[in-house]
Amino acid sequence: MLKDKDYKIYEAICLEQKRQEEHLELIASENYVSKEVLEAAGSILTNKYAEGYPAKRYYGGCEYVDMVENLAKERLKKLFNAKFVNVQPHSGSQANMGAYRALLHSQDTVMGLALDHGGHLTHGHILSFSGQDYHFVPYYLNDKGYIDYDEVLRIAKEVKPKLIVTGASAYPRKIDFERFSKIAKEVGAYLMVDMAHIAGLVAAGLHENPLPYADIVTSTTHKTLRGPRGGIILTNNEEIAKKIDKNIFPGIQGGPLMHIIAAKAVAFGEALKEEFVNYQKQVIKNAEALANELKKLGYKLVSGGTDNHLILVDVKSSVGLTGKYAEKLLCSLNITCNKNTIPNDTEKPMISSGIRLGTPAITTRGMKEEEMATIAYLIDKALKNHDNEKIKNQVKAEVLLLTSKFPLKNI
Ligand SMILES: *Cc1c(COP(=O)(O)O)cnc(C)c1O
Repeated sequence: MLKDKDYKIYEAICLEQKRQEEHLELIASENYVSKEVLEAAGSILTNKYAEGYPAKRYYGGCEYVDMVENLAKERLKKLFNAKFVNVQPHSGSQANMGAYRALLHSQDTVMGLALDHGGHLTHGHILSFSGQDYHFVPYYLNDKGYIDYDEVLRIAKEVKPKLIVTGASAYPRKIDFERFSKIAKEVGAYLMVDMAHIAGLVAAGLHENPLPYADIVTSTTHKTLRGPRGGIILTNNEEIAKKIDKNIFPGIQGGPLMHIIAAKAVAFGEALKEEFVNYQKQVIKNAEALANELKKLGYKLVSGGTDNHLILVDVKSSVGLTGKYAEKLLCSLNITCNKNTIPNDTEKPMISSGIRLGTPAITTRGMKEEEMATIAYLIDKALKNHDNEKIKNQVKAEVLLLTSKFPLKNI
């Protein structure tokens, strides 16, 4: 056992377990997986090399891992009504890299949502491979905090991109895929939707499915979808599907993580159940409740609210604190969230004016609207009394009481 043979790692895992237990997890991209997903992820499948695809492997002894990968693929196709899928990307970023390489040549022009307006590093940031290998032109949100579709069209006509990417890491509103598809068609571009954040909502039918509109859809599996850390790629186009497969293996990856693919299959199986739809409905209800409670307390939210699982709070204009300060303060009181830039932020990205709050993890714990009111009240109390040790200690004690009522062992 790890405890006897490698106590240092064992101890670090135990401490992290306690942290997960005792913190209110409001990071919008995190979740808690089921015991069954964990069991598959921790299984002996990690021992197996299986370069290639089912029935076309470069190693012997792949008959059982083929069963696993085929099940993962079938379930994923059913979940999103997709004709072709690849379940091998090790992460969302690798799914995006594989997708770009299937459609683009080096330095082709691509459009993506700017990082400081809610996009992702892999949507063209200069520190990411995406911004280095391709010529990305950003688009932005309008003054109300919504994607500016007219502006997307205007820029697209001007720069004639080969690909338009949509999808976001910090966008609280629904995305109009049909509109994006019309814009892409008008300028002769491919459309790629990165649904990493909203995949669970899409799977539950609570956000429009991008598959009918996009040439390629990519996602992570560990955010709202509540699976192990990993990536996936989906398409309805057979030619593109072939290119995707080649570009994942041997293009950018070697052997697939069969234990993770098994855990993905378990998570897709869970997502096909009715309970998962109820879970996602509650995720959205909770985000709405948290947004409304914060608004009642005088907080300014980017776009004025939310349609999905996350909220962006402008803490700078609401209580005069930076995002960096608010993140650190709340984290010290066991409320985990992350600083986030807001559109047209006057602070640098490492400081920022906002915080991002998400409900997927606390909803998995079983929390409902009533708890959202308590959480809004605790956040407000902490932020408004950031220099009062006594009040901060009270907030932390209340957080511990709340988390103790929703133990992780019940997941
Ligand atoms: C999280 C995220 C990714 C990247 O996922 P990793 O698994 O962290 O590489 C890509 N795109 C979007 C929109 C994301 O939110």
